[in-house]
Amino acid sequence: MLYHVASYAWCSNAITSLLWKPNIPPDINWTNQTIQDMATRREFLQRASLIGAGILTNQLPVSYGATDDAIMTVMGPIKPSDMGFTLTHEHILLGAPMDKDVVYDAEDICARMLPLLQDIKARGCATFVDCTPSNLGRNVSICLRLSKASGLNILTPTGYYGAGDGKHLPAYAQSETAQQLADRWIEEWKNGIGVTGIRPGFIKTSVDNGPITPIQRKLMEAAAITHLSTGLTIAVHTGDGKAAIEELEILKRYGVSPSARIWVHAGEEPDFNFILAAAREKSWVSLDHVNASMVEANMSSLKKLRDEHLLDQVLVSQDAGFYQLGKPNGGSIKPFTFVQAEFIPMMKTNGFTKAEIDKIFVANPAKAFAVSIRKL
Ligand SMILES: [Zn+2]
Repeated sequence: MLYHVASYAWCSNAITSLLWKPNIPPDINWTNQTIQDMATRREFLQRASLIGAGILTNQLPVSYGATDDAIMTVMGPIKPSDMGFTLTHEHILLGAPMDKDVVYDAEDICARMLPLLQDIKARGCATFVDCTPSNLGRNVSICLRLSKASGLNILTPTGYYGAGDGKHLPAYAQSETAQQLADRWIEEWKNGIGVTGIRPGFIKTSVDNGPITPIQRKLMEAAAITHLSTGLTIAVHTGDGKAAIEELEILKRYGVSPSARIWVHAGEEPDFNFILAAAREKSWVSLDHVNASMVEANMSSLKKLRDEHLLDQVLVSQDAGFYQLGKPNGGSIKPFTFVQAEFIPMMKTNGFTKAEIDKIFVANPAKAFAVSIRKL
């Protein structure tokens, strides 16, 4: 099917130069859901048949209530012990040119991305966390298709990307209160995203360097409110260590434990004391730009965290992919294999034990993404 979108950005700082210019067809109510999440009647019926067959569910089973530590995938809840080897920050697709409408083809995206997902699955990856927020191209129907086709568990987020000074936010995010924004995100948890019935597995939001802006503070407040209602973990793309401290101050004011926050891009902060302090407070610190050009920096960070006995708080991923909407064939797409094919062997030669590697890629993700209300 074809999707029509008009947003474009990705996780890099290049995002700050882009503008949000939504172009909403008259028959779509932007206040309720994003275009990307609108499923066709055919998909809706497909989903209904999956629910009928017991493959998908609209209701959490009693044993997987919000405080029972389920992992919520696009296919429904799984036990944390079934999460397995997990890449905690990757992207299937992102964005669309901001200054023009783009029609994109789900068939093409699935055809290009499926082999990359099958590759990591064959190497032992079990779970893939797609970190694309709803205002940067999230498409949960594509996530569902690729999950079914690849055999990977896939998580998708609720929440909005607020970095780039909030330029990519929908207009209502400026005027609505934190509670109103949280109500939208909580609604996705309770009743599914759009008409798909697919539930988010975490909250993804983002802020720039500190001091963060009023609207970014509001997004963090909305994330705190949503967490207290849903137990969803809060992954925050964070500009720098000062912003990371502000995030925790906001969460604590709402009574939310730092253990509910993932500091996304913690590895970019040059002053390692910020990272150590966050990990000591039991926040998750995410080294999520592992690639060929960042090996030394990431290995050095991991060694420091190991020396400080803080590996329990660490997540490692690549921020790779992704099909860039608006570019021919999705542009230049980075495979998801570096961690498994290159980085883990390097960890072994650098003295990391199997137990430590399993902690980082299996045990920690299962704890970090378990749906659980975490109060101070
Ligand atoms: Zn990212």
